[in-house]
Amino acid sequence: MTNINDCFNNAHQTPLLTVEQTLEQIKNAIEPIKSTDKQMIRDALGQTLAENVISDINVPPHRNSAMDGYAINSEILASAEPITLAVVGTAFAGTPFQGKVSVNECVRIMTGAMMPQDCDTVIMQEDAQRSDDLIRISNQHLKAQNVRHPGEDIEKGAVVLHAGKQISPADLGLLSSIGVSEVTTYRKPKIAFFSTGDELKSLGQTLQAGDIYDSNRYTLYGMLKKMDVELLDLGVIADDKTLIKETLENAANSADMILTSGGASVGEADYVSEILQESGKVNFWKIAMKPGKPLAFGSINQTPYFGLPGNPVSVMATCYLFVQPAISRLKGLDDSQQLSLKAKCIHSLKKVAGRTDFQRGILKQTATGELIVDTTGLQGSHILTSMSVANCFIVIPQDSGNVEAGETVEVLPFNGII
Ligand code: AMP
Ligand code: MG
Repeated sequence: MTNINDCFNNAHQTPLLTVEQTLEQIKNAIEPIKSTDKQMIRDALGQTLAENVISDINVPPHRNSAMDGYAINSEILASAEPITLAVVGTAFAGTPFQGKVSVNECVRIMTGAMMPQDCDTVIMQEDAQRSDDLIRISNQHLKAQNVRHPGEDIEKGAVVLHAGKQISPADLGLLSSIGVSEVTTYRKPKIAFFSTGDELKSLGQTLQAGDIYDSNRYTLYGMLKKMDVELLDLGVIADDKTLIKETLENAANSADMILTSGGASVGEADYVSEILQESGKVNFWKIAMKPGKPLAFGSINQTPYFGLPGNPVSVMATCYLFVQPAISRLKGLDDSQQLSLKAKCIHSLKKVAGRTDFQRGILKQTATGELIVDTTGLQGSHILTSMSVANCFIVIPQDSGNVEAGETVEVLPFNGII
């Protein structure tokens, strides 16, 4: 898929990729999953529609009342006041009034009830004075008011949802409103992931000197879960060349994408990069961004592979910026644009020119509606608390230096996956 970067061990010779260039290369390299599944709509939540959905019915299917009130024939509104009408029956939602209604008559009607055939207008009950079987109304009403028309929401024959759309909670409602119980979606991708590092202990184990708990597998689990994919958690793999190789090959056989964290840099025990350089299908990129400069990307036996950095913040940032669009592409989703906003930065920020910073920020709106953003504090790529309190990235362009308090900055509000 891609070629090895020969300059990998000579960082000074390796050109830095911009974030945009990296994204472009990733998107071009990933083929959407083509196979489809037919499933009940609830099971399709978060999946990608593989076919357009066309409505066989009008929604609403019949003329109905938007209010609790009285259905009348609007011709009577041409009369002088006061207008008195006889109440000749009641229409409930699901139980229509079937009889005739003359111009001097009306029908008590509830919200959602079918309009009687002879009526075209609904008077809100608050605008009618009732005594026994008579109501009195003014003539100051508009013809057709408070009436919902067939097909007003969805017309019979209309494309309600397009192929490539991710099925949302609103879509589940929409599909059921047109009587659709099953949809065809692209097969859910299976993402294999594991952590590498001799120092990593899983939950429940005791930390020995030099050990830390594996957190990347948990942040990745959370983010992937929110991307509605199938997960294959392969655990913590020690820094052992044979073991890593075996695990990668197994993952390539059973998953649609593989993610690893750690071991992709140039340390003595960074076997992931060593193994993958031999395969010749993985690039080791240096991206002009902070956090998350080293990133491996390519394929293992045709399965797309991401070697994410080991540091906890870098893992989340690279997963957000690069893995997320890659999974969207794998799922066959239409391109969606990240929301980017301008906000006033209320504290100064340290920044060295040369890389694009994705600093962690807390975005708020003042009482007057102004967007302001504050830093989360320490910005090291090991400060995972910064991700927990943040609700956005503050994006500081590659060539910029420090940000002064009061300057306007670009912010990327986190979408639902962090
Ligand atoms: P590496 O890329 O393996 O050199 O790791 C870079 C840094 O990230 C080191 O401080 C590692 O201990 C740390 N690290 C790597 N993997 C994990 C993980 N799964 N959870 C927490 N920290 C990690
Ligand atoms: Mg390591």
